Amino acid sequence: MCPEPVRAPSSSVIPDGMEVTGQLQYDAWWSKGWPPVEQVRPDVWSVPVPVPDNPIRYTLCYLLFGDDGLVVVDPGWDTEPGWAALEAGLAAAGASVEAVTGIAITHVHPDHHGMSARLAQASGAWIAMHRAERNSLPRHAYPMGTVADSDRRWVTQQGVSPEVGAELMMSDSGLETFRTMAEPGVLLEDGDRLPLAGRAIRVIWTAGHTPGHLCFHDEDNDVLLTGDHVLPRISPNVGLQPHTAAPPLQPYLDSLRRIANLDSAEVLPAHEWRFRGLDTRITQLLGHHQERCDEILAVVGDLGPSSAWQVTEKLTWSRGWAAVRGFQRRAALAETIAHLSYLVEQGRLARSTNGSDDSVIEYSLVA
Ligand SMILES: [Zn+2]
Ligand SMILES: [Zn+2]
Repeated sequence: MCPEPVRAPSSSVIPDGMEVTGQLQYDAWWSKGWPPVEQVRPDVWSVPVPVPDNPIRYTLCYLLFGDDGLVVVDPGWDTEPGWAALEAGLAAAGASVEAVTGIAITHVHPDHHGMSARLAQASGAWIAMHRAERNSLPRHAYPMGTVADSDRRWVTQQGVSPEVGAELMMSDSGLETFRTMAEPGVLLEDGDRLPLAGRAIRVIWTAGHTPGHLCFHDEDNDVLLTGDHVLPRISPNVGLQPHTAAPPLQPYLDSLRRIANLDSAEVLPAHEWRFRGLDTRITQLLGHHQERCDEILAVVGDLGPSSAWQVTEKLTWSRGWAAVRGFQRRAALAETIAHLSYLVEQGRLARSTNGSDDSVIEYSLVA
């Protein structure tokens, strides 16, 4: 659900065309320290909020001040230390929880949207997100009582053995985290402006990592809040899971190209550090998915007709497949399926099944 940590390069070398602008964040990342609350522009603040038990470690929440309002973008994971970090960030910026008038969400993953309900309750602020993201909330997307069955069918169709499959199933506690998440009172569409007087914050729909992912372009400051869509080092997980409305890789690649015209902007991501060089980063990410597709075609060429699980096991993972465990395996499998589905859409692979509901789906090269 978070950006995929299994495929990030371990090198701290910054490629040509990219420039670290959040030097303190960058130093903190590599020294395993904690980045400071920072005033990025007179009316834009960056607040790190801890993510428990996760190598991503923190979400960069942003505070946007308007003439008579304050919008919090991605308040972070709902924990007591997280709440304390958010309160401290607001205090450093001369504000308080009560001053928050709006909460804007890049996407509903718990490291972004987790604390929205609590913050909205404490402040009375509205919550805004894209319509497609609202529709992906479990209350809308997963009818009660259907999750275990559809998960079981899904892992079977991917060729996962029952023993391994158990490890990949959505847990009740994981689902509960999603089920208790706040509903939005404001639905945003591509091209909208955030309701914040005195500011021009444009909403850009960047489907891929999730169906309704949004970026926010602060036009006067020329800073781009990219959520998990573009991060300086990690390639965000783009996966096709059960309940995902549609194959996400083509939309993700299109969404990358859609923001390529904003190369002048300083990028304010939700994790890691601020940087410049959006075009360079987009080119890298497009290249990364191209390489992954090439690798998958080679694996299917070697194996012959194969399930998504067989392909996943053969792909390269930065710390090796054996080190990818538990729920990470679900993310890896979902990402492989996203690429396989894209290659089917492209006419490079054929998908076959014997037609029954629980038969294994096989992929083969198109001659
Ligand atoms: Zn995230
Ligand atoms: Zn995410």
